[in-house]
Amino acid sequence: MNQNQTTNSGSAPTQKLDVIIIGAGLGGMYQLFRVRELGMSVRVIEAGSDVGGTWYWNRYPGARFDSESYSYGYSFSKELLQEWEWTEHFAPQPETLRYAGFVADKFKLRQDILFNRKLVSAEWNETTRDWHLTLDTGERMVAQFLITAIGPLSVPTLPNIPGVKDYTGIACHTANWPHEPVSFAGKRVAVLGTGATGIQTIQEVAKTVGHLTVFQRTANWSAPLHNGLITDEQQRTIKASYADIFKRCHENVSGFLHNPDPRRGVDVSEQERKELWEKLYKERGFSVSVGNFCDLLTSPQTNAWMSEFIADKIRQRVKDPVTAERLIPKSHGFGTRRLPLESGYFEAYNQPNVELVDLRETPIERITATGIKTTERDFEFDMIIYATGFDALTGAYDQIDFRGIKGQSLKDQWAAGAKTFHGFQNAGFPNLLMILGPMGALGNIPRSLEYNVEWVSQLLAYMKTKKLSRVEASAESVEGWMDVVKAASVGLLANDVDSWMTGVNKNVEGKSVRVLARYAGTGPEFRARCDAVAAGGYAELDLT
Ligand code: NAP
Repeated sequence: MNQNQTTNSGSAPTQKLDVIIIGAGLGGMYQLFRVRELGMSVRVIEAGSDVGGTWYWNRYPGARFDSESYSYGYSFSKELLQEWEWTEHFAPQPETLRYAGFVADKFKLRQDILFNRKLVSAEWNETTRDWHLTLDTGERMVAQFLITAIGPLSVPTLPNIPGVKDYTGIACHTANWPHEPVSFAGKRVAVLGTGATGIQTIQEVAKTVGHLTVFQRTANWSAPLHNGLITDEQQRTIKASYADIFKRCHENVSGFLHNPDPRRGVDVSEQERKELWEKLYKERGFSVSVGNFCDLLTSPQTNAWMSEFIADKIRQRVKDPVTAERLIPKSHGFGTRRLPLESGYFEAYNQPNVELVDLRETPIERITATGIKTTERDFEFDMIIYATGFDALTGAYDQIDFRGIKGQSLKDQWAAGAKTFHGFQNAGFPNLLMILGPMGALGNIPRSLEYNVEWVSQLLAYMKTKKLSRVEASAESVEGWMDVVKAASVGLLANDVDSWMTGVNKNVEGKSVRVLARYAGTGPEFRARCDAVAAGGYAELDLT
């Protein structure tokens, strides 16, 4: 591509594109594929130097997804499904990044992607009905439609602890991990954070580290992933049953291959509960949460029993009883935060060179030039790894200055809490369409993003056929959807727990209080509602 055709850093007019997509992760890549099919002119803007999004940035040791690989890949191309072979039931990051590259090669996606550029601002022009974009390179672009595929967990946050900048050793957030191999041999390493990322990092770093110190503020529930290599026979079975695999994901509450047990934990005997839980503890992936009793996340009693079952497993696996108790969450029940899955995480603490510091007992006072100072000790480290999470859901939007009708700012509008129509659109921001936008359905991410892309593409096709040039969710439609989001959250134990799923990240100003941060209903319900909007000729959207 001659990039001068579509970007401009001078004063000459810029050629207007039909569509600009922000982000070349799995969502942006698929959106590009679909927009091209519609015969529309399109470019993607990507901050990284290659495709892959999450898998491009999160190169930390042990990174992998918790969805079965064969339920994670794209489902849209039968040819792709037969050509690509996953090697593990839960593929590690390098393999998933290779997969993204394979898809980009196969569908020749890179030729329409502008790499190493960030979108700084996007301004809607009501007269010309288009979006005017400014990139960090100074380039400017214009498009009729702007589609964001910028991810719900893409803005890493460092801890708001004094002295983070003072440290002179190697320090790195897991989502900004170097592209070169990092050796931990003989090194004194600190990991701060014990979420899904921290747990994966800790269990991997522990294998080769000189000495590892884990700083834990809140213990997290975790259960075995049970990963393994995919045998040749399993590979043949997987390839022959993709239609069934995706049908099962489609029908599942959150897009996974594990179906909830229809019984309520409170209605069965203690022995029946134990039998199910022992079975689930041995099964792969999210079986232990998604395949659990249907009242696991709503009944305080079932949840307390399950939490105690998992606590006992931790006590059995961690030799030192004091460490075991520190690793057992006391502030929340099992599954009320996104469950991290592990492979030898608890056993890592049985190693003599792995130490757990409980920040509830001895908080960090500051990061120093040589390490970390708690109220009890001054630690020295060769390396500090920050597994301290993300400015989730709205963070990526807050970084871009979106200006809608009459120059209103999206960030300002969402300051009191994000509001959208099905996660796709927002009142006052015509022709801005979001993939996995706030208040949409998440779950098994590729399953959700494929649906999102298809819904958006169907809308674009409809508008093209009907010669419509402007789409905007009405304020009433947005409020209507927010009522659905509120109703879907009623009774969830997770509402009373601090996590990115309740909008809490104490490292980000203004995000210390729990809010309604996501649609917590099921995938099938979400899709049924979105399908109804399309079938009804998009009556909830103002189309002109
Ligand atoms: P996270 O779940 O938000 O965890 C962040 C961790 O850092 C928490 O333990 C948090 O403690 C700690 N922390 C943050 N600020 C701190 C501070 N100032 N002082 C001390 N500790 C601090 O983030 P994450 O682990 O990166 O995971 C985010 C999400 O990404 C996951 O829930 C999941 O959806 C996704 N993910 C998926 C996978 C996978 O598929 N396997 C892997 C990694 C991530 P508190 O709990 O006390 O706040």
